[in-house]
Amino acid sequence: MGRRKLVVGNWKMNGMRAHLDEVEAIGAVAAAHPDVEVGLCLPATLIMAGFERRGAAFIGAQNCHMDFSGAYTGSLSAEMLAEAGASWVITGHSERREARGETNADIAAKSVAAHNAGINVILCVGETLAVRDAGRAEQVVADQLLASLPEGAAADWLAVAYEPIWAIGTGRIPTIEAVATMHAALRAALASRIGAEADKVRMLYGGSMNGDNAADLMGIADVDGGLVGGASLTAAKFAPIIEAADSKLAAAA
Ligand code: PEP
Repeated sequence: MGRRKLVVGNWKMNGMRAHLDEVEAIGAVAAAHPDVEVGLCLPATLIMAGFERRGAAFIGAQNCHMDFSGAYTGSLSAEMLAEAGASWVITGHSERREARGETNADIAAKSVAAHNAGINVILCVGETLAVRDAGRAEQVVADQLLASLPEGAAADWLAVAYEPIWAIGTGRIPTIEAVATMHAALRAALASRIGAEADKVRMLYGGSMNGDNAADLMGIADVDGGLVGGASLTAAKFAPIIEAADSKLAAAA
């Protein structure tokens, strides 16, 4: 289907200037794997400096405001982030949906604001353990995706990340079958809204991805890459994930 693999690090609230060496090292790994699109969503304080040292990686942000400008103390607009060097932004991360009370409507609006500022979007969705245990994961996450899907969603600016909340930062991942079932359900949900365009939208898996499980996860037909937290903080941990995404290496294995 020709979807280029996309592997993105989410540094969350981690990273000081001293860690820019890791940005540079990851940019060099990205340069060695041109078949894979690699990026780092940095804390806002590092975006400008990270941009200067990004090598072949792109620099992204972890959140943006939905408005262009205004009296929103402590917030950053998508346009500001774009000027700083961000070309992607994460929206709808569960750590913001849950702790910050972000609604599906907020997330859709932030995604539209990012697109209007020329920034690509990684829209995150995922279920709690209670929902999975109740056997409702596919239905709940598909509903969440459609409710937070921005107007005009298209594959050239939007990717979706399936991140089971219970897998984030825990070292636990769903079975390969469960991820395959979920990604197929999400692509079908997308198709119900945007038709054939859904086949082009990249869908990432996120939640405790690491160098040991990345090849299996990214070997799933509908998994087009990863959104990676803890294992993206150093080049040593992130490089094996980027290597696992490289289709040439995967084909040779
Ligand atoms: C994330 O928070 O987006 C994430 C995937 O984190 P981790 O890889 O640390 O589970």
